[in-house]
Order: sequence, then C-alpha cells, then structure tokens
Amino acid sequence: MKKLLLSFSLLSASFCFSQANATYLSRVNQVLQSNIETYNSSLVGFGLKGTGKAASTNALNYIVQKYKDFGYADSQITYDNFTYSSTTVKNVIITKTGTVHPDEYVIICGHYDSFYGTTSTNRSEGANDNASGVAAIMEVARILKDVPTEYSIKFIHFTGEEQGLLGSKNYVTNVVNTTNPKMKIKLVFNLDQIGGRSDRTNNSVVCEEDRINDTGTNPKYGVNTTNNTASIAATADLQTYVGYYSSLTGFIDNIYGSDYMPFEKNGETVIGLYERPTNNGTVVSNPYYHNNTDTIANLSYPYIYQVTKATVGAVQHFAVADTGTLAVNDVNKAKDFAVYPNPVKDVLHLQLDSSIKDFTFEVTDLNGRKILSIKNQKDVNVSSLKSGVYIGTLISEMGKDSKKIIIE
Ligand SMILES: [Zn+2]
Repeated sequence: MKKLLLSFSLLSASFCFSQANATYLSRVNQVLQSNIETYNSSLVGFGLKGTGKAASTNALNYIVQKYKDFGYADSQITYDNFTYSSTTVKNVIITKTGTVHPDEYVIICGHYDSFYGTTSTNRSEGANDNASGVAAIMEVARILKDVPTEYSIKFIHFTGEEQGLLGSKNYVTNVVNTTNPKMKIKLVFNLDQIGGRSDRTNNSVVCEEDRINDTGTNPKYGVNTTNNTASIAATADLQTYVGYYSSLTGFIDNIYGSDYMPFEKNGETVIGLYERPTNNGTVVSNPYYHNNTDTIANLSYPYIYQVTKATVGAVQHFAVADTGTLAVNDVNKAKDFAVYPNPVKDVLHLQLDSSIKDFTFEVTDLNGRKILSIKNQKDVNVSSLKSGVYIGTLISEMGKDSKKIIIE
C-alpha cells in the first residue's frame, strides 16, 4: 500500500512535465541485460584501470571498438587528450548530430578509469565504479544509433576521474569553452556507480540534482547559483522517467563529486543517477568501491539493467527522440485524451476529443507486453488486471498518445 501511494504521488507530479511514450518504451525494451554483462565483464577483465595504466588504454580501445561495432563512424569519434603523470591520456567523445538543434548537446557521461590507490588492497578493477556506468551508456548508444533526436547527443567516457575529475575538467576548459561560439549544452547526465550491492536490496536509484551552493574550501556539491533551478526541473523529470521506464523508484538527492562537477561550475545544467542499496527500506552505504572488492560478485546485473532502461527512456525525452511513425504535431493533436479514475479498480473511462470516433485503446505492462486492446469503447473494464502500473495508449487517426495507469 505504501508503495502504491508513492507511485501515485509520482504520477501526479509527472503529468506536469511529460507523458510516457509508447515508442520510447519500445526502445527501452531493447535493452539487453546480456549486453550489459558483456560490456561490464570485458571492462573488468582488463584489470586495474588506473589513469594512464595499460589496462586503462586497453579499456578505452575496447570502448571505441564497440561504438564502431554499433555502427558509429570514425568521424563521430573524437578524443580529448591531456597529460597525467607524464603520460598522454584520453577522454573519448562519440557525437550523434541532432535534427533540429545540431549545435546544442545532451551529454551523457561516465568515467572509464578505476580507483588506483597506493596499496594493492585499494586498487580496483572498478566493476561498479565505474564499469557499471560505462556499460549502461554503451547500451544507450547502441539502441539510439539510428534513432533521430532533435538535440545532438555526446556520449563521453572520461579518464582521470579518480585523481580529481581531471578528464572532465580538461574537457570543459579545453573543449567546451574553447569552441567558438562556446559549446551549447542542454544537459549533462552523469552515470557513476550504478551497480548496487549483490548482498542488499536494489529497487531504487538516486536522481541527483544540483541544489546546494557549496562555499566550503573543497566544494563537493556544486558552486554555481545560476543553474540550480534548471537542474531541479530536469531531476524531477528524471525521477518521472525512472518510474515510467524501469521497475525502480527514483529518490532525489544532491549531486556529489563526480564528472558533472566541472560542468556545474561552468554554469551548465547537470543531473546524474547513482545507486541506492537498502536494507529493510533503509539506505545503506557500499563498502565495495575504491578497493579490491569492487568486483562483479559484489554488484547486481539486474539492477544495472533497470538503471539502463531508465536511462534509455530519459535520454530519449531529454534529446527529444523521434516518436516513431508519428510526427510530434500529430501526438499533440491527441492531447485531450485523459483517463479517470486513476488509480482505477474496475472501469476506466476515456475522455477524448469528440472528433475522434474511430480509435483503439491498448493497455501494456511495463515490459511492453500487450494486456488489452479495445476498439471504439470509452469504458474499459480493467477489473481482471493485476494491481500495478500499466501504460494505456490511445491510437486514432489523430495520432497516438500514452498515459500511465495504476490499477488497484
Ligand atoms: Zn566513480
């Protein structure tokens, strides 16, 4: 019951911002856990990926080869080099050009280096921190490769994160700010440590927002006052998308010490996703990072899979992905469509524009399975459905539109 109430409050909030989209959901359902396991275990297999170490270079080469395998052209792949401890190290950037705003970017980023401490026990192969985030981003890139998006997308894998956000700092200073005119960034969406704990419950995720102005000597929470409002709005949307496209519940908390920080300082709008392991409902810390226990055995692949689904859904909204065979204008025409009551127990009533006579109403579950399909009927009996969250889609000559439905 508690969970139901929570979902309901999420639902009311979400209607202010956007609607779940059936086409986006169909792409979310292309996420394969087996792919995430392959990318993650391959990255782990390279060993201790301290910045500038051979294992780190091997991981970078693997990542680049995978983007080529997905079909990205050499011309879409660029590097941002810098020197760390007398070695040249590289961030890699994969750019997908937008159809309407080619010069404005949604950046989705996560570091590929792993923690490399002074003793062997605090050196890490980084299964969770951050081969989890890299694997998720790669799967997003695979699925969106041929999907038109209005905004351009940059998939970025930074190095040097564990030495003080060196890669992201270098990128902001030497690429974002030296581009003429300055690179226009719609949003920076960072994934760092989304592996969870195999020995705890992983049914929620932190949606990270930029809300604190940290005036401390070693700021960890963001220092710019101009970009908080935009981040808070984007994070609320992110929480909504987590609910639409994954089995997880999103909880909002502040950004903290990862690659979005140099962007935050630069005035950009930043958000992130971060693991949220719990024990009997209470959030617990994770002892398995920044040391030699950051292994596959200690994380949860089903959890990374869910976070990746949420991310595929969210990135489509943020970058305004194509909605399938329908133009955006067609979807807008069908906007008057509403369902009530919601949550519903027995009969769901459809309220739609009186000009719509010929229509189909479909109910699918969150895995995209079609549960019901009814033609030209405004009263839909849902009493036989199990309680839970569903997507109701109205299809007519006016277009196609979806709503989240909660069945009690
Ligand atoms: Zn990290």
